[in-house]
Amino acid sequence: MAKKVGVLVELDYCVGCSACQLSCQGYYDLPVTETYMRVFLGKPDVVDGHHEMFMSPYAYRLDKCAYCLEKEEGNAPCAAICISRALHVGELEEMKQLAAKTEGRLALYS
Ligand code: SF4
Ligand code: SF4
Repeated sequence: MAKKVGVLVELDYCVGCSACQLSCQGYYDLPVTETYMRVFLGKPDVVDGHHEMFMSPYAYRLDKCAYCLEKEEGNAPCAAICISRALHVGELEEMKQLAAKTEGRLALYS
């Protein structure tokens, strides 16, 4: 049985550039209307007196992520292109451990 995959986003470091989404689309040669990961830009909120934009990639085809991980030997195309090093794709247990160590807001998809 395939190992479970997790996608971890450090929300304090993600700048919402969408490179991960484009990289995923390019890797799978998907049309622009189709994607296995989408970057959402949320409404600005006031946090500690500052306006803050919520942004996060959302990976919703973890079966495809598992394929990437195996084919690219752990080097998922979306995470490899992230300039902020905010995105991590790996085995779920490994991602949970990383999440426990990482400071900042986190989103973990599994
Ligand atoms: S996770 Fe990285 S590549 Fe994706 S939108 Fe955020 S900063 Fe850009
Ligand atoms: S791991 Fe692969 S399928 Fe999953 S979001 Fe990244 S590029 Fe797309």
